[in-house]
Amino acid sequence: MKRTVRAALDEAASAIGAVDARALATHAWDVTRAWLAANPMQVLSETQEARLASLVAQRTLGQPVAYLTGSREFWSRDFAVGPGVLIPRPDTETLVEAALERIGGEASICDLGTGSGAIAVTLACERRRARVVATDASPAAIAIARANALAHGATVEFREGSWYAPVAGEAFDLIVSNPPYVAAGDAHLARGDLRFEPRGALTDESEDGLASLREIVAGATGHLLPGGWILVEHGYDQADACRSLLAAAGFAGLVSLADLAGIPRVAGGRRE
Ligand code: GLN
Repeated sequence: MKRTVRAALDEAASAIGAVDARALATHAWDVTRAWLAANPMQVLSETQEARLASLVAQRTLGQPVAYLTGSREFWSRDFAVGPGVLIPRPDTETLVEAALERIGGEASICDLGTGSGAIAVTLACERRRARVVATDASPAAIAIARANALAHGATVEFREGSWYAPVAGEAFDLIVSNPPYVAAGDAHLARGDLRFEPRGALTDESEDGLASLREIVAGATGHLLPGGWILVEHGYDQADACRSLLAAAGFAGLVSLADLAGIPRVAGGRRE
């Protein structure tokens, strides 16, 4: 039975909602949202119908839309993503914004645990003369991040290793990180997209979720130039803890910034 775009979209929408249905249809049929809107009566081929049906079935089982389409927009650019990396969140744009406000054109920047490379590649694109180094312990993540840098014409130096291990003896104007920070027992890990994302990108298995942030903040002084900034993303209830960690490490000008939902999401400080 041949179906129209509208009929197929309506059926998909009843299973997974209209927004996800459109996102998966544009991917399945390699068309734009505008094309969908302009061609409701277009008759689909069997292949087109089957492609959408397969994606809708996987979405029904909980697969994140970004893993099914292979991409997610961040700071107005498309980033390739796959099950080996955390899906970029709009919350993290708060971190990028704070970073851009604090660096000049020729800054040296280090992104720890880069994942898809969303932060490092965005900063490299927005500050073409900056030197950007990005680390990640996962070779699979580095491969995806590298592809994203290439796709966006960004120059980023990728290095494999845990936190500061690949930048021993080096100092930067800015250190940024969106590390795992969800507490090991947090129920969110068993809900929604998080079930399908790499657990190691979400939680370091510490009871308070702060083990990685502790390590990153403690190591920052030794890897920042005088006047340099550290900016980290953290969990909804970790703003005070991050402030204490930064103060204990001797950072000045402590800042706390809220995400789009008004939740404190980014903490930072300046090396005197
Ligand atoms: N913000 C993510 C979430 O809870 C977690 C990302 C992270 O641990 N860095 O959905």
